Amino acid sequence: MRIASKVANEGQAVVAELIASTELRMTRQRRAIMDALEGVDTHPGADEIHEMVRQEMPRISLGTIYRNLDVLAEHGLIRKLEFAGSQRRFDGKRHDHYHLRCTRCDKIEDAPVEPRGDIEEDLRKISDYDIVGHRLEFIGLCPKCKQNGKSSNGAEI
Ligand SMILES: [Zn+2]
Ligand SMILES: [Zn+2]
Repeated sequence: MRIASKVANEGQAVVAELIASTELRMTRQRRAIMDALEGVDTHPGADEIHEMVRQEMPRISLGTIYRNLDVLAEHGLIRKLEFAGSQRRFDGKRHDHYHLRCTRCDKIEDAPVEPRGDIEEDLRKISDYDIVGHRLEFIGLCPKCKQNGKSSNGAEI
């Protein structure tokens, strides 16, 4: 399987500039992890990323994947997502966006709504915090689980 490098809102030049600005050494492993993450929108966990990267680097260990995921996240090149009660997941999209999480199958999707800057403004007015950002996770049942949760007469199980 060839991992397609798909960069949604940024050109390759912007990514290269971003990488250069972090002064992080871009090893083959790190590049492969970033490419794998940018090619999917499933917000995979470390195990899944390991599986993807192994297609190109069969000998890479899960430990190496974990270490590099941490380093890339620390430098803002990928995002680490932490959700209550679920395995840590990763996101290749660096722009601000909200997530939708299915409470039954743990699927995580990008929520198709624009982030609300006004929430931060409102909070700045009433709190003493220096607000630097916010995260928002919508929870519910995905269309597939919603469908599976219905019995033949349409009643919820
Ligand atoms: Zn689901
Ligand atoms: Zn996302």
